Amino acid sequence: SVFDPATGIYSSCRPALSMPSPGATGGIVQFLLERTSDPGISSKLALVDAITGERVTFSQLRRRISVIAQGLIELGVRRGDVVLILSPNSIQFVESFLAVIFVGAILTTVNPLNTAEEIAKQARDSSPSLVITTLELADKVQRLDLPSVIIDHRDGSVLPPRSIPYSSLLRESPIFRAGSSMSAPIESNLDDTVALLYSSGTTGVSKGVMLSHRNFLAAAGQVNMDAEMEGRENDVLLVMLPLFHIFGLAVSYASLQRSETVVILPRFEFLHFLKSIQDFRVTQLPLVPPVAIALAKHAAVADYDLSSIKNVISGAAPLGKEIMETCSRRLPLADIRQGYGLTESTGLALLTLPREDPRFMGAAGTLVSGTEAMVVDPETCKPVPPQKSGELWLRGQQIMKGYLNNPTATASTIDKNGWLHTGDLVYVNQGRFFVLDRMKELIKYKGFQVAPAELEALLLSHPSLLDAAVVPLADEEAGQVPIAYVVKKPNATVDESNVLNFIAKQVAPYKRLRRVSFIDAIPKSAAGKILRRELTALPQSKL
Ligand code: AMP
Repeated sequence: SVFDPATGIYSSCRPALSMPSPGATGGIVQFLLERTSDPGISSKLALVDAITGERVTFSQLRRRISVIAQGLIELGVRRGDVVLILSPNSIQFVESFLAVIFVGAILTTVNPLNTAEEIAKQARDSSPSLVITTLELADKVQRLDLPSVIIDHRDGSVLPPRSIPYSSLLRESPIFRAGSSMSAPIESNLDDTVALLYSSGTTGVSKGVMLSHRNFLAAAGQVNMDAEMEGRENDVLLVMLPLFHIFGLAVSYASLQRSETVVILPRFEFLHFLKSIQDFRVTQLPLVPPVAIALAKHAAVADYDLSSIKNVISGAAPLGKEIMETCSRRLPLADIRQGYGLTESTGLALLTLPREDPRFMGAAGTLVSGTEAMVVDPETCKPVPPQKSGELWLRGQQIMKGYLNNPTATASTIDKNGWLHTGDLVYVNQGRFFVLDRMKELIKYKGFQVAPAELEALLLSHPSLLDAAVVPLADEEAGQVPIAYVVKKPNATVDESNVLNFIAKQVAPYKRLRRVSFIDAIPKSAAGKILRRELTALPQSKL
């Protein structure tokens, strides 16, 4: 990345990003269909399920997207409607995502581990009109009382109320029966929203991040640029990352757009993951730090042929230099890299350069194409010189449109000059960005978001508690775990296990508190803001 001392702005050293001209119409599905129309690739595999072995070629995928889109229209889905996908990774997840956008509707997702109440809360915000889910998860959306499509329904299994099987979308669609030619995706504006993914951003509870065609096209161009620079062909991507999160969704879209094969892992089990790499000769391996740690440490790694891997890209949370170095030694043919991004930046902003100088191991990367950055003193909002730490601000075409129905949160995250304030503390050394710490409230457990504000609101609803604050505690395996400091009401009798259970009953397992400490008062600023630093600085014994 190149620094301009006059403005304090870093710009990308990668080639320029080519984007459709302003005012151009068409969207991400149209782009995908155009890019994959070459007859030479029609029989190439587009999607493979690593567990069931189910596979879809590019010509099948192209056809299935439009057939499913037709089915969605028959179910009443219209332009601008929101469709919720609640599902583990599957071929159908990817097809549905593309079909939803084909009809001009908007995809929203939720972590399948969330409770029915957590899902309902999010749905009240995003207002979906249809749910695409599985038999096992259908119970969690019953209370939404919406029509649903069941991905894994087989003849003989009982359908939940108001649902139809996914297979009927494929079979009963008139277009499919008639074998007619494909209809085109709905004309869309590049700035139309295609996805509404949830993130708590720098503060507060989860908000709907509005991502547009432009955002996805930029991110795909940025991901694919390095592949072009390296002259890679016939890549095979393994997606162990959850598709409900931007990292999984954006890299899958980018790979399909390059006519790469995307192998989908519906469940994560380490040995199966290793076997999938071996069996499918996987070349691209995006993953999260806990999996990189397993690659570095697990004895079974030596039992599999992993020589096909060209790139390992860890993202979503920090990965230490030592783990990267160990991975490098264990996978000598692979380039061990890091990516950094946020849901608010369509998953991408920094990426290690191909075959980077090992001296910069541990950096989160350099700016991807078409991206600018500033490193800013959080107090003065003035840029700091290279090597000095400050908050990372980002600008580029992958930056979200804003938070759904929340102009206040949008305005405090994207300033009037278009800079996204990340809430991450970084410094830059020779154009490489190093993430030092997270200044924002957000806690990340194995790359999953845990919003302290959400847990604090639940703690305050406990009859014996007066006040509460939730902060991260460093954890070797998970990166961070949430812990709480609470203040009892006078004369209340309540202990740690009572509070732990009270929360555990109401939240997804990854959000559970791992420890609760009773204190006399929560440290707060004059304005009433929790002074989280004072709490994270308190001594802690290991869990
Ligand atoms: P999410 O919106 O769930 O993708 O979370 C975004 C946040 O994850 C960022 O603001 C960072 O705090 C963290 N993050 C993502 N990638 C990295 C990385 N490579 N190193 C350190 N933190 C990261």
